[in-house]
Amino acid sequence: MRVIDIRERTIPISRYADPGIPSGGLNTTAVAVVTDVRHDGAPIVGFGFSSIGRFGQSGLIRERFAPRLLAAREADLATESGDNIDPWRAWDCMMQDEKPGGHGERCVAVGALDMALWDASAKIAGKPLYSFLGARVGTGGTRAAAPVYASGGYYFPSHDIDRLTDEIRQFLDLGYTHIKIKIGGRPLAEDLRRIEAALSLLPGGDHLAVDAMNRYTPESAIQAAKALGPYNLRWFEDVCDPLDFAAHAQIAHDYEPPLAVGEALFSLADARNLIRYGGLRPDRDVLLFDPAHCYGLPEYLRILAMLEGDGWSRAACQPHGGHLFSLHVTAALGLGGSEANPYNFQPFGGFADDAVVEDGRVYPPEAPGIGFETRSRLHKVFRSLLDGA
Ligand code: MG
Repeated sequence: MRVIDIRERTIPISRYADPGIPSGGLNTTAVAVVTDVRHDGAPIVGFGFSSIGRFGQSGLIRERFAPRLLAAREADLATESGDNIDPWRAWDCMMQDEKPGGHGERCVAVGALDMALWDASAKIAGKPLYSFLGARVGTGGTRAAAPVYASGGYYFPSHDIDRLTDEIRQFLDLGYTHIKIKIGGRPLAEDLRRIEAALSLLPGGDHLAVDAMNRYTPESAIQAAKALGPYNLRWFEDVCDPLDFAAHAQIAHDYEPPLAVGEALFSLADARNLIRYGGLRPDRDVLLFDPAHCYGLPEYLRILAMLEGDGWSRAACQPHGGHLFSLHVTAALGLGGSEANPYNFQPFGGFADDAVVEDGRVYPPEAPGIGFETRSRLHKVFRSLLDGA
């Protein structure tokens, strides 16, 4: 049981449903991991990508991590019983001779391949990922609808409030009950107008989260926190520099409602420092670590174990990403919820084409693996990696 080919391509993605609105040249890397296991005459192929919000990782994948997987012997990759690829052993192959620390974004390259390896392993087992993963880590793997919230609310270059409220109405029409919008990129008074426009469509502050995308200085974060406090929002996310733990501790001291942090920390070591020094409160704060950005599922599971050892509940975790992989992980591991990107970062954001959001919850698809095949535009992108194979 071996990996016989790895294809990758870096693909532009947009923060907007209309890709004509400038989006900073954002992209992601899609990967296809071809195994020597055949089903119905065709090789089983796992698909993955570098989640969203970070740039593509083609160079590191091509030069460092894919060659190690391709060179791995059957004995290095297979499960004990030899009937499948073991994603944990594959992870060890990828990380061979990598030194601790200096995480940078190599973890995103590893995470993209790890996603594809889980897709391949679950397909070889003939199970949807939530079920396969749940059985592997002892959380059961029974089908359950995961809580999801609709993420969007980026600044529009014109008619911002009108377009923002249109977008929120569309989210509500789709069945979402909780929404997240962006702040921190315009003067505070303008952001407060956005927040009030959003709240005018929602039952209360606990249905709206705001994401400052790490833009505030420690001082401007305190000012924003003072202004946001009375709204009692669901959470205040990515408040300042993700590695400024002292600033996080100060804001957590001054701001009573929930904070959300962690999507820009990509390793167990960074996550542990956040928990040690960030002053966060296990009874209310939300942790956004992205399983694809932080070296994939093996490292994410280590982060979860660290959190539980430190008095945190899995319910505090709401993985960043807003795509099918995060949805399966949330459902399999019993996390508090998953981000959803119905319109942003297409075709990677969002769930199965026929997914129905009911009361803010959605089921992961029943197709084997992650089920990218249930999302036709995305599957077309992945299949195109294999052209000429
Ligand atoms: Mg964020």
